[in-house]
Amino acid sequence: MIIAVDGPAASGKGTIARELAAHYGLAWLDTGLLYRAVGVSVMRAEADPEDSDAALAGCDFADDLLEDPELRSERAGNYASRVSVHPAVRAALIERQERFANQPGGAVLDGRDIGTVIAPHADAKLFVTASAQARADRRFADEVKSNPDADRDAILADIEARDERDSERSSAPLKRADDADLLDTTNLTISAAVQRAIALVEARTGKR
Ligand code: C5P
Repeated sequence: MIIAVDGPAASGKGTIARELAAHYGLAWLDTGLLYRAVGVSVMRAEADPEDSDAALAGCDFADDLLEDPELRSERAGNYASRVSVHPAVRAALIERQERFANQPGGAVLDGRDIGTVIAPHADAKLFVTASAQARADRRFADEVKSNPDADRDAILADIEARDERDSERSSAPLKRADDADLLDTTNLTISAAVQRAIALVEARTGKR
């Protein structure tokens, strides 16, 4: 069974994907980490993320970069969003994601284009959203633990800029697949959102 989980930044899609993978005993891939690794490679090379050749060079990262805590930073997310607009970057990462999706035993992948591009044949697809305000509040609560100077307004502005860039880009934009179920987590606790996700997958696949 393949489950595709797409949605904007801080919508809860990562947690939902991880919990679905645990529930169904499936492998899980957070595809945002791949784009974040490219972004951090470009950042460390002090190269320009808007430059397609520089961004493509960043795709040649060593796998242990995927474990680097810096990938989780707001700055890495910002670079990831900027390198991910380049079709050459998306093409360089596609095979790895397709292989993961189609592995024996099945998989859960979360990202922006899983249900539309990477696994259009997925057995169940969720499009997870929440209001920009709720997503900024979540990011802020997370960020402020390690950075007392975290700025909620700056986080909201970054989320809105990221939404726009991810939705407006011409190559594999963030968009709900026609056959994806919508899950709005604005007013849901994490555990209620996960329960709802399991119910939606069950309704699509008949698997409990
Ligand atoms: O999901 P996460 O916030 O970690 O993703 C970081 C950035 O990577 C996103 O803002 C998006 O631009 C890009 N991305 C993408 N396609 C994916 C996953 C992430 O373009 N499948």
